[in-house]
Amino acid sequence: MQQHEAVLPLQLKELNLSSFNMNWQQCNEIATENNWSYSKYLSYMCNLELEKRSSNRLIRRIKESSLPANKTLSGFDFNAIPELNPAQINALANCDGWVKKAHNIIIFGPSGVGKTHVASAIGYRQIELGNKVKFFKTSHLAQLLQQSKAQFRLKDLLVKLDRIPLIILDDIGYVKKDEHESSVLFELICQRYETGSLIITANQPFSEWDSIFPDNMMAVAAIDRIVHHASIINISAQSYRTKGR
Ligand code: ADP
Ligand code: MG
Repeated sequence: MQQHEAVLPLQLKELNLSSFNMNWQQCNEIATENNWSYSKYLSYMCNLELEKRSSNRLIRRIKESSLPANKTLSGFDFNAIPELNPAQINALANCDGWVKKAHNIIIFGPSGVGKTHVASAIGYRQIELGNKVKFFKTSHLAQLLQQSKAQFRLKDLLVKLDRIPLIILDDIGYVKKDEHESSVLFELICQRYETGSLIITANQPFSEWDSIFPDNMMAVAAIDRIVHHASIINISAQSYRTKGR
């Protein structure tokens, strides 16, 4: 072995080029066999490194998103929910124009009809399209916001959430009407208005959102901001959970 071949693995490690490190020997052989130019060889190696980094980023973003496992479009049976328009859901999943424009999606329906599944499936595809996504049970996020407010750190948390272009608020109706919890949620909704997207799932129609927010005016103001740029999806089917029984 030549001296430079002995130090190369260390150099590549120092440069954080793990894919180069794993592949350079095998690629040397392929390049020699096929008479590749130096630039072709280098470009091939760079490609391997970029692909590896992109797949690592995808894995990391899925982990950070807290999306429920396996709730993807491939596991969703559109035939079970005929009122749902597959073209609409596929378009929202496979395009991110609406995320770039900070538009929202609201999914209404009773328990068990697939609201969380659809929201998550759209979330997964948005991560694949390169967007950061974060999934929250809304009541959990409201508690986090409330705790931050009590510690005078609400602004910090809101700024951190600002960096996530798509936030999923699952089951907004389970937030306690408790003044503190829902007013911080209101602050989040105002903060994201026209700057960041939300997917919201809800058991109750808008007309009952006064049970979420402390008063009618706050409910109206929140709804106003959410629906100004939004796609609304209604699922009134029978629960998928109880269907087979
Ligand atoms: P919701 O959020 O409306 O209460 P979920 O999304 O949690 O309902 O759905 C309940 C369960 O049924 C989940 O395990 C979900 O994956 C599954 N499910 C619901 N609708 C479908 C569907 N159309 N195809 C496949 N699985 C579904
Ligand atoms: Mg749900």
